[in-house]
Amino acid sequence: MPTYSIKMRASKSGMHVSGAERIIPQQDISPAISALAERALHHGLGRADFINIKMEEVLPTELEYLDALPVSTSPAPTIEGSFAIMRQILGELGLADKADELIDLFRHVHPMRGAVLYDVATGQRLEPDHERGIRVTYMDAEGASSSNSNKDHFREAIVLATKVINAPGIVAELCMSDDPDYVVGYISSKQHGYVRLPPLKAVGDPHGGRIFIFDSRKAKAEDAIYYLEKQKVLVRGLPPERPVNTNPQQIFAEELERLKEKSLYRSMRTMESAQSKYVDIKGNRTLMLASNSYLDLANDARVKQAAADAALAWGAGSGGSRLTTGNTQLHEELEAELARFKGTEAALLFNTGYMANVGILSALCDSESVIFSDEYNHASIIDGARLSKARTVVYKHNDMQDLETKILSTPCRKGIVVSDAVFSMDGDIIDLPRFVALGQKYHLLTMIDEAHATGVIGATGRGAVEHFGYSCAPDIIMGTLSKSLGAEGGFAASSKVIIEYLKNKARSFIFATSQAPAPLGAALAALRILENEPQHVQALQHNAAYFLDCLHKKGIEAHSPTAIIPIIIGDEATALKVAEELLGEGILVPAIRYPTVAKGTARLRVALMSTHTEEELARTAKLIAEAIKRCK
Ligand SMILES: *Cc1c(COP(=O)(O)O)cnc(C)c1O
Repeated sequence: MPTYSIKMRASKSGMHVSGAERIIPQQDISPAISALAERALHHGLGRADFINIKMEEVLPTELEYLDALPVSTSPAPTIEGSFAIMRQILGELGLADKADELIDLFRHVHPMRGAVLYDVATGQRLEPDHERGIRVTYMDAEGASSSNSNKDHFREAIVLATKVINAPGIVAELCMSDDPDYVVGYISSKQHGYVRLPPLKAVGDPHGGRIFIFDSRKAKAEDAIYYLEKQKVLVRGLPPERPVNTNPQQIFAEELERLKEKSLYRSMRTMESAQSKYVDIKGNRTLMLASNSYLDLANDARVKQAAADAALAWGAGSGGSRLTTGNTQLHEELEAELARFKGTEAALLFNTGYMANVGILSALCDSESVIFSDEYNHASIIDGARLSKARTVVYKHNDMQDLETKILSTPCRKGIVVSDAVFSMDGDIIDLPRFVALGQKYHLLTMIDEAHATGVIGATGRGAVEHFGYSCAPDIIMGTLSKSLGAEGGFAASSKVIIEYLKNKARSFIFATSQAPAPLGAALAALRILENEPQHVQALQHNAAYFLDCLHKKGIEAHSPTAIIPIIIGDEATALKVAEELLGEGILVPAIRYPTVAKGTARLRVALMSTHTEEELARTAKLIAEAIKRCK
């Protein structure tokens, strides 16, 4: 049976999108070509508009069979740790004196798709064209399935590495993918095999590079280049294509490992004291600049007493859903208070803000609706939209022009426009007057999420409507009791009709045991404090202005009209390092990075409290400025 080499190259608007190749028996050609075309048409970088597929016969005498390099993983906790392992292996290969130079070259040869051919005997680069580099082709795994269009990076990398290491005079290879999501690199050699090094770069880093380490005392460069570019090779004995996993625990354990490799693994920090301006973390008293308890009410003596009193009077739990046995006077009293506070006809409690958004959107919208949603909206809004089965149209962040364009191009009978009032990652405020005007103009419901607005904006902390001088009001205000109100729970404030509808239709309201008495008592006490003591909101607003001023004096750019102050660092690893150093100095300021925010916009996210003092804020600004200088 004749064998063929097939090569696919795909581009979009002249830019390379995808490339792949196979060496397969004639009978497998059709499924292989359709799989390669699929790959080019459904690529993450976009659908290719130019696809070149080339086939040529390979004679049996031209084909060389190689055994796959053995694979091992040397996970290091940090990028520098991975480079230390790379340095050690280079040392064991007798390249200790060249290691620094090689690693430096590796970290800086980025923009080319081919590889550097580095001669350890002379220290020279031998690839004929530095722009193009050496491109390794004519290789495949023996017997690989032809119809799988998914790119198996891992197996393709081993095939390539195996061919490279068998080329005349090649001593080792260093490689890092240019895929921003794929942070695992490798070093391969005959002695050590294929050693995976996670992580070799930060998530979001688009740099990649490849160096073939060659020894001109062992072979001629042209022979190595000929082998790499022209010799037809099939690699045997690769790890299985899709590991057949029969142990369900193992599937999830492996998924967790992949998260770790991508630096996306999440873990929790343990607080050893109540949520307040100072918290104990690992035995250290730490200044809290990350809490949503903006008015420090979660630890307020009166609020805590009210929670205790409510529990003593009404019990620990509510014992049923609101529609069965779990509706108390306490629930109704808090709803009336919330409606008054937000200036609406009625309000409805949910167990959390998350459940409020999910319940409201899935109740008000169905498969005939369109939900217009700001691109930076909170995950609970996104989840509510998904659950509703409505069509979701995402508009540019706080861009009312784009919102109107999208409304005009998406005619609908039923629709809702929904947005955070204060955006949780940037701390900016919705353009409410235009948002509401667009809703009215096009007969769409308008809804805002005031999780970070209640208790924060408006002279008395009533939120966006007060902030804009009561000139406009959305149809639905969603809020949470868990942020500035220091308790737990969510709510919708709206017209009587909408609230009655939600009581009948919102499944996260209907099918959950109603809130326990303690958080209701706490939220009521917190609301009364807000109404009777405007100084807390004033102090918070003063602190935001004061802290921004301190940052500016230290030469740090930052803007925010709310209690959330992002300090953009850019690079993911640097942002993490700055946050780590600050924690070492007793200040908790988290680094927020991809995928929570866009790649390359990693930031410190400062959240202020009304109880922070000017001294604490000035000192924090100074320490942040110093940490950024040290880490950059
Ligand atoms: C925190 C938050 C929620 C969820 O509220 P919880 O009461 O914590 O469930 C919803 N929307 C936004 C914008 C939030 O920040």
